[in-house]
Amino acid sequence: MLKQLHQLQKLQNAQKLLEQEKLHSETYCQMAKIKSEYEADKRRWQQLACMRGELLQNRKEYAESLADVNHKLQKEQDAMYDGSTSTVKVLSAREAQMTALGEKMEALKTQDEEAIHHLQQIEQEAVDLKQKIEEECQSFERLKLDYKEICEDYAHKEAEVAAEIAALLPSIEKGELAWFEANQHKFGGSPVAYLSSEHVCDGCHTIVTPVLYKRTVSGQRTYCEKCGRALFTDNE
Ligand SMILES: [Zn+2]
Repeated sequence: MLKQLHQLQKLQNAQKLLEQEKLHSETYCQMAKIKSEYEADKRRWQQLACMRGELLQNRKEYAESLADVNHKLQKEQDAMYDGSTSTVKVLSAREAQMTALGEKMEALKTQDEEAIHHLQQIEQEAVDLKQKIEEECQSFERLKLDYKEICEDYAHKEAEVAAEIAALLPSIEKGELAWFEANQHKFGGSPVAYLSSEHVCDGCHTIVTPVLYKRTVSGQRTYCEKCGRALFTDNE
C-alpha cells in the first residue's frame, strides 16, 4: 500500500513541479517584468498629465495677473499726464508704484517662461513615454502568444499526470489515503519514503538502523528514525 502512496506522492510532486516550472518560465518572468514596467510608466503618464494641467492653469493665472498689472501701469502712466499729479511727492510716489509694477510684470514673465520651458520638457517626456508604452504593449502581446503555447504544452503534461493519478487512486485503501492526506503537510508533501536495500531512507537520505530495516522488510509499519516518514521496501 505504501508503494502506491509513494507513487501517488511522486505524481503529486510532479504536478506541483509542472506548475512551478510554468510560473518560472523565462517567458512568464519577462511578461511579469514588462507588466510592472508598464504599470510604472502608466503612473508616470498620469503624473505628467497632472503636472501639465497644473502648469496650464498657472499660465492662465500669470496671463490674468499680467493683464491686471498692465492695466494698473497704464492707469499710473495716464495719471502722470492728465494733470492730477500736482506735487513732487505724488509724482515720486507714482514713479515708485510704476517701478514696482514693472518689476512685478518682469517677474510674472519670467515665471511664465519657466512654465513654458517645463511644459516643453513634459511634452517631450510624454512623447518618449508613449512610444515606450506602445513597445511594451507589443512585446507583451508577443510574449502572451508564446506563453499560450507553453501553457498548452504544460496542460498536456498535466493531463497525463492527472490521468495517472486517477488510475492509481482506486488501488489505494480509503483509510491509507486519509492517513496520507493528513500527514502530507508535515512532510512537505511526502510522508512516505522508500527504504533501499542499502538501508537508505529516500526521504532524508540517511541510513536507518539494521533493526528498523529488518522490521520494515518483515512487513511491519515503520517510521524513519531521522525524518519520521513511513517506510517501505521492495518486499512490500
Ligand atoms: Zn528518513
